[in-house]
Amino acid sequence: MSEAVVPTAARERAVYLDYSATTPVDPRVALKMNECLLMDGEFGNPASTTHAYGWDAAERVEEARVHVAALINADPRAIVWTSGATESDNLALKGVAEAAGGGHLVTTSYEHKAVLDTAKYLEGEGMQVTYVAPGPDGVVDPAHVGRAVRDDTFLVSVMHANNEVGTINDIAAIGRLCRKRGVPFHTDAAQSAGKLPLDVERDCLDLVSISAHKIYGPKGIGALYVRREPPVRIAEQIHGGGHERGMRSGTLATHQIVGMGEACRLARLGTEAESRRIAELRGRLWSHIKQIPGTRLNGSPTERLPGTLNVAFDGVDGETLLMALDDIALSSGSACTSATVEPSYVLRAMNIDDALAASSLRITVGRFTTPSDVDFAGRRLAEVVGTLQHSALS
Ligand SMILES: *Cc1c(COP(=O)(O)O)cnc(C)c1O
Repeated sequence: MSEAVVPTAARERAVYLDYSATTPVDPRVALKMNECLLMDGEFGNPASTTHAYGWDAAERVEEARVHVAALINADPRAIVWTSGATESDNLALKGVAEAAGGGHLVTTSYEHKAVLDTAKYLEGEGMQVTYVAPGPDGVVDPAHVGRAVRDDTFLVSVMHANNEVGTINDIAAIGRLCRKRGVPFHTDAAQSAGKLPLDVERDCLDLVSISAHKIYGPKGIGALYVRREPPVRIAEQIHGGGHERGMRSGTLATHQIVGMGEACRLARLGTEAESRRIAELRGRLWSHIKQIPGTRLNGSPTERLPGTLNVAFDGVDGETLLMALDDIALSSGSACTSATVEPSYVLRAMNIDDALAASSLRITVGRFTTPSDVDFAGRRLAEVVGTLQHSALS
């Protein structure tokens, strides 16, 4: 144990303001995960039924399932473990499409790629898809979703909170109208679970995708809530062994699952207080940023996640700005598309023109952000934007 890892002092690295991309694991979560790795811990295969190693691991998995379920007021038996929200979204869309034998899907044009690319795949398989556009405020009008539903619609999938602009959709209204039409409703809640109240009963949700690493749990683990009453028909997408009630095979990753359970337990304990603290930090950051000439907030100022800002800096190229801000970690658009120089498809879907979209940055604060972090970021943004605007004029 002599090779102690000395953490790099946080100050030596950029200030982290990219909590929508991922979050660090909460130390309390890491401790729980550690209990499930070594010989003297819960390393057993939860599917082993012939000895205590298996039984003990299974017990830890079931405890975690209760914590995840509680976060969304669900029956624990309706939680299916996956490798993350990407897999949950794939299982929801392809699983329901396959069980329905094809037909029509309703989704939106600014979903995460995990939903959009899956919808494109289903189109390739001969299914029809309607992509409802959000309003210019980044919020989807439930009436537009209702109008898109047809008699052969097998699923409606609308994200709860958008990962790029942080805007929030009225999923309860969409859930109610889907219930009335008898169409299952899926929501990608990777950005909202643990940050906003979610209730599968009150909100009439049939399928919900969640990811651990967006809420201070480990990467590589997520869950799909699959309603049992009335049952949602879903075809498994990963075959082999029949784990998770035949919906998702594979040896359960006890340490990851326990980490996700603890992350959800902590989120549920602290949702309100934490959201308030984070919203205050975001407000403090915005009060710095809005003084910079030519800045504009993308998306609704009210219907938004507590930690997220998406800001256009008029006349400044976002990529150049990112490059110059090497002491702050943030992103232009969503991290998943930052390999391409295309303007963000999310901002495009909101009818924001390409020039403004190309000058936009996403800034997100989270659990470990301090007031001095946001003051530093505000100051640096003002300096760098000022310099770039000045050089653009000269
Ligand atoms: C991060 C994210 C995903 C992907 O989740 P992974 O667990 O990384 O696969 C899907 N949807 C949204 C809205 C996200 O923010």
